[in-house]
Amino acid sequence: MTKTVKDYIRAIHDFPHEGIIFRDVTTLFADARGFRMAVDQLLHAYAGQRIDKVVGLEARGFILGGAVAHQLSTGFVPIRKKGKLPGTVISEAYQLEYGEAVMEIHDDALAKGDKVLIVDDLLATGGTADAAIKLCKRLGAELVGCAFVIDLPELGGRKLLEDQGVTVEALCS
Ligand code: IMP
Repeated sequence: MTKTVKDYIRAIHDFPHEGIIFRDVTTLFADARGFRMAVDQLLHAYAGQRIDKVVGLEARGFILGGAVAHQLSTGFVPIRKKGKLPGTVISEAYQLEYGEAVMEIHDDALAKGDKVLIVDDLLATGGTADAAIKLCKRLGAELVGCAFVIDLPELGGRKLLEDQGVTVEALCS
């Protein structure tokens, strides 16, 4: 039987904490057919749409986003955790289960009116993607959508993004 993207993803129990099931996409990325399939399916979802920049979220969004950007012949822009980008940045804080995290983007990475596609491996509560959307919008960019390999719908991320008019694509849930 033909394998689907989901078949290449493994679940690791009790990582990073007891009781958590971590969806591990390294097995998808490591497989030639799996990685090709994931990138092709994301490209298919946005065929015919104008995209100026692919924005990848640290860290697995860099792997997928880099491949998608290369295929689209667009530039790639990283959004990173606080303190990692060398140039002048703008920041957005968001809530984690315990505490707060901060994501950053170079303040000259996007131009006003740029059509951007945000890419990450997994959508859970949507906090990370929501911070990324805010950063892109603050630089004047226009969101084409947010693309993920995995959506965990019960955690509400898709609703959070779609309620603000952002299109969400996920290859599996
Ligand atoms: P959210 O902000 O709650 O939507 O969490 C999504 C972010 O956490 C993404 O950047 C993911 O890479 C990461 N993440 C959360 N859970 C998992 C998982 O089970 N596997 C891989 N990444 C995860």
